[in-house]
Amino acid sequence: MGTIADYTGGSILESISKALHFFDSTEGPLTQDEKGQHLLQNIKEFEPLILSLNQAAEYICNATSIAIGESVCRALHPESALTESVFLNELAVAMASVGKARMATLEEAEECLQKSSGHPLIISKVSGRYLEICPSYQPYCVYRQAEKRGLHCLQRKI
Ligand code: SF4
Repeated sequence: MGTIADYTGGSILESISKALHFFDSTEGPLTQDEKGQHLLQNIKEFEPLILSLNQAAEYICNATSIAIGESVCRALHPESALTESVFLNELAVAMASVGKARMATLEEAEECLQKSSGHPLIISKVSGRYLEICPSYQPYCVYRQAEKRGLHCLQRKI
């Protein structure tokens, strides 16, 4: 499971980098692949859910603190277009305290996510709670790469 310390310290990037390398170094469906299944179990610990804009706004409204910062995966792809995520509650405070995000208002967070039209909004559990909403960018989104290779990890929030 990814923890707040993994996000602030950057070790989450090592896991993401390994996953992306695995996808790049293999071909075709990974449903019968042992390493693929192991990766799927790790991914599922984040319990990622696809949100509508309204559902994302509800999480933001209920948050005690909000921050906006570069989507975590983008650090591995600085040449790509900037995509920003919304961090909530204790993750927001922690990311802002290490300069990886800036504290934001509810309106700013909603505006940030509205800009991402065309990309599915995905919320992930960090340290066991839903604290990160990302406008997933397919070329480097681990979840979406996994789905493309038959490792089903994404569900739509009902
Ligand atoms: S939702 Fe996808 S692109 Fe965003 S941080 Fe998670 S894995 Fe990376």
